[in-house]
Amino acid sequence: MSDQPNGQPPEDDRLIVWFDIDNTLYSASSNISHAMGTKIHAYFVNLGLSHEDASELHMKYYTQYGLALRGLTRHHDVDPLDFDRKCDGSLPLEDMISYNPSLRKLFQDIDRSKVRVWALTNAYRPHAERVLRILKLDDLVDGLVYCDYEVENFVCKPEPEYYEMAMKKANVNDPSKCYFIDDNRKNVDAARDLGWAHCVHFCEKGLEAMEGGKIKEIDDSREPGAADNDVVDVPTLEYLRIVWPEIFKPSK
Ligand SMILES: [Mg+2]
Repeated sequence: MSDQPNGQPPEDDRLIVWFDIDNTLYSASSNISHAMGTKIHAYFVNLGLSHEDASELHMKYYTQYGLALRGLTRHHDVDPLDFDRKCDGSLPLEDMISYNPSLRKLFQDIDRSKVRVWALTNAYRPHAERVLRILKLDDLVDGLVYCDYEVENFVCKPEPEYYEMAMKKANVNDPSKCYFIDDNRKNVDAARDLGWAHCVHFCEKGLEAMEGGKIKEIDDSREPGAADNDVVDVPTLEYLRIVWPEIFKPSK
């Protein structure tokens, strides 16, 4: 996998599938979101907030911006790299998620003569690369789009500029070539609004009751009054074989 440090890849006529990483390539039951939430809460408290205010602001920023860090950089002059070190960077991911052979097989079954596979995340690059490495998917992903914490006012999903940056980075001009799956419904809706043609919401069943359920609730909810936009819900990634049969190699 390369993230194209020297500019765009050459023009490519193939379709492109964008996979969100966190809570999409692994189950939310791994509790990474919860562990991340605990670290983020501690970060807010370290800024001098009470536990109550920390919880409230965390949820407020997450709901408003799709990313707690977005609010922290905007309103609290937080250094995103310091945040990344203390939150994502300090998670014991190796103990929390593991290689899943059927997921690797799913990626291998995508027909690369027709399709490119990219990862698209709201995390920073080291976290994204670490997850892909643990899942043994790094060699099956052609490129990565992430939140660039080194850029002032970096963009994140669901801001339209984020998806535009992604298309530019992968050198895709035609949104009808884009396939996208994400566990956050607002991220999916934003992609649909930009004309990404094949959008799927990864919606695991039976996770409502677990801890960290509040984040899951925010992730599954839509903006009030959002119109029906042909987004399909899938409960496992295996369902992509049914929803997007055209991107897979013909089964023997
Ligand atoms: Mg996600």
